Amino acid sequence: MRIPFVAGNWKMNTTAAEAERLVFEMLERLDRIEGVEKVVCPPFVSLVGISMMLQSSSIKLGAQNMYFEIKGAYTGEISPLMLRELCEFVILGHSERRMHFGETDEIVNKKVGAALANKLRPILCVGERLEENEAGKTEEVVERQVTAALRGVEPVHDLVIAYEPVWAIGTGRAASGKQAGVAIQFIRGVVAKLWNRSMAQDLRILYGGSVSGANITEFISHPEIDGALVGGASLNAEEFVGIVEKTAEIKRKIK
Ligand code: PEP
Repeated sequence: MRIPFVAGNWKMNTTAAEAERLVFEMLERLDRIEGVEKVVCPPFVSLVGISMMLQSSSIKLGAQNMYFEIKGAYTGEISPLMLRELCEFVILGHSERRMHFGETDEIVNKKVGAALANKLRPILCVGERLEENEAGKTEEVVERQVTAALRGVEPVHDLVIAYEPVWAIGTGRAASGKQAGVAIQFIRGVVAKLWNRSMAQDLRILYGGSVSGANITEFISHPEIDGALVGGASLNAEEFVGIVEKTAEIKRKIK
């Protein structure tokens, strides 16, 4: 049985003070929810403060990116060695990084390897762009991205994959539960080919793209979808807690 997983990606939002306030607002209720792995991913500058706030809670911390080298002359970059003191997870290959910062499949692959080598658990994001979706290339694109990202990576339970169709991110136009379920089942098949069936069955694969309190039920009711990577809606404490509560409730029922 895969433990459901919900992560909030705050992107480049919240000052350190705002981030701490947001955690304060959700901490008690989120902490009490059982049966779901709960992760918040604030900006780098808030990781130290928030890691202290979460110390004796069941909420885990993730970063939104990292560089693949351990240390050195890479001005402005953050290494896995720095992150592992503070957090357990790191989002890698997010479409906004691929789109705005030139991250290639090869770079994502190096980052996945570096994260795992440094005991960080990657949340690997894959997903097709609108034109690729319209051209019927969803499977081709996600297969390429997953295969490239996992090149040379031994099977591990520490990986989480998020299927995030680019056209659904921040647009308010979410995929349907069925669409997401089909893509996720396909991704599980790709991992089974690369690794093996049993590891693929154990792997958590999330849906991400305009998830909200209003549509989480549709995704989480699908047996292939193990949780959500939530962007915009994770900036609202009430809504994010509601998404996690719904996830716990529905997955408990369909267990
Ligand atoms: C994301 O940032 O990964 C994301 C899915 O964003 P949103 O929920 O805002 O679409």
